[in-house]
Amino acid sequence: MEQQQQNSHVLLLPLPSQGHFTPMLSLAQLLCHAGIHVTFLITEHSQSLFTQREALSARFPTLHFESMPDGLPPDHGRKFSALHEVGASLRSTIKPFLRELLISLTKKDDETSNDGSTRRRLPPLRCMVIDGIFMCFAIDVAEEVGIPIFALRTTSACSFWCYTCIPDLIQQGQLPFQDEDMDQPIRDIPGMESLLRRRDLPSFCKMPIDHPTFKFFVEEFEAITRVSALILNTFDDLESPILSHIATRFPKIYTLGPFHALLKSRIGDDLSSSASSLRHQDRRCMTWLDSQQLRSVIFVSFGSLVKLTRVQLLEFWHGLIDSGRPFLWVVRSDMLWSEQEAHATPVELEVGTKERGFIAEWVPQEEVLAHKAIGGFLTHSGWNSTIEGIWAGVPMLCWPQIADQPVNSRWVGEGWKIGLDMKDTCDRSTVEKMVRALMEEGDRSEQIFKSVNTFAKLARHAVREDGSSYKNLEKLIDDVKKL
Ligand code: UDP
Repeated sequence: MEQQQQNSHVLLLPLPSQGHFTPMLSLAQLLCHAGIHVTFLITEHSQSLFTQREALSARFPTLHFESMPDGLPPDHGRKFSALHEVGASLRSTIKPFLRELLISLTKKDDETSNDGSTRRRLPPLRCMVIDGIFMCFAIDVAEEVGIPIFALRTTSACSFWCYTCIPDLIQQGQLPFQDEDMDQPIRDIPGMESLLRRRDLPSFCKMPIDHPTFKFFVEEFEAITRVSALILNTFDDLESPILSHIATRFPKIYTLGPFHALLKSRIGDDLSSSASSLRHQDRRCMTWLDSQQLRSVIFVSFGSLVKLTRVQLLEFWHGLIDSGRPFLWVVRSDMLWSEQEAHATPVELEVGTKERGFIAEWVPQEEVLAHKAIGGFLTHSGWNSTIEGIWAGVPMLCWPQIADQPVNSRWVGEGWKIGLDMKDTCDRSTVEKMVRALMEEGDRSEQIFKSVNTFAKLARHAVREDGSSYKNLEKLIDDVKKL
């Protein structure tokens, strides 16, 4: 057993963006905890933002970090929102570096570098796990070098399945849209026949199908079918009907979610869940939350990538103040589309915020959601945020913008009925009404609260020793050790 553990070595390749970095780092810790060696390959830029690297290396002796250039010029801003540029640059520049690294890590003996130093004594590499979006170029390299490759998709199963069915929608003539009616139902995604409308499809579906971005995504979905196994941050009781559809195309799927909860259940220290933050967390909000009443606060966070115009920001702000609820709002320094858009704040908003608001640049979100003062979550429906909200049993109000978010929010509102979908609108009166509908007493809010708490209980069960995610992790660990 011990021998087998020492021989296992996996390389993980995350996309350098918070919502992808966090689940991949959780996976790294879960594998290391089982004695597996993990090489975690990140860009030099992410490495410079990743303050907990040394603490994690000390906590997990089999965790090894490697860094790589991202191919962008030094003066490139590398804003988190420029993900496409970072992805494109990695795709076009990093293959030779990756090939060399894989070859050197698969060798049995220590290697002497050009400068005479000896490269670490690690067991030979057995497998690579890539992020399943933007990183599919690595599949070619793994195939050349002869290493099995798994993909971690950081989205929900339902949005992943939707992506997978896009080529079928094109064939059936449902894409591109023939007119502007965004409420037309989408009928041909198995398992979601009466659920989705055009407006609920992934954001790039609104582009012409010969647009380079559209083409790129379709190529990525085709490429990912070449991986040996798929790892998903979801749990069976939440998405099993859709998972069985995915299983018709991906015979090996490991559902390990919610990752952050599985990590707590397996490892259980504070470092493991907070370690992945690439931004400074303002913890003063926790003291502010302590002073608020039970389930009274609406938490507002649009993740790490979504951007707003100043008009949208002001509409949200008015709506929140007009709802009369205390609010905790994450307003990132890079959240406005244009920095020139920053102007003086209207006095009534300043006064209202002082009375019952707290604005922070970045917060410890998992902890915030678990705080007893939180009664609702106004979210962009990024998958990490959604599954963190489910775990915490917090009803959601969804304002999706990009990528998989419109699919997730539809499932939140109409599939699982654990929130309300405010898709495509954010005028102040809608924000006010929806916050009230979510947080004020009534049959609908009660029903939503019950449903999200039912899923929260199922999520708790999934990460316990006899739960599906816990057992699937055991299976993944066994399978990796056998490679
Ligand atoms: N997050 C955080 N603090 C914040 C806002 C977000 O720690 O103030 C974390 C959040 O807990 C989640 C991640 O950032 O794990 C965002 O991922 P998600 O998939 O929700 O959205 P993305 O940023 O990819 O759009």
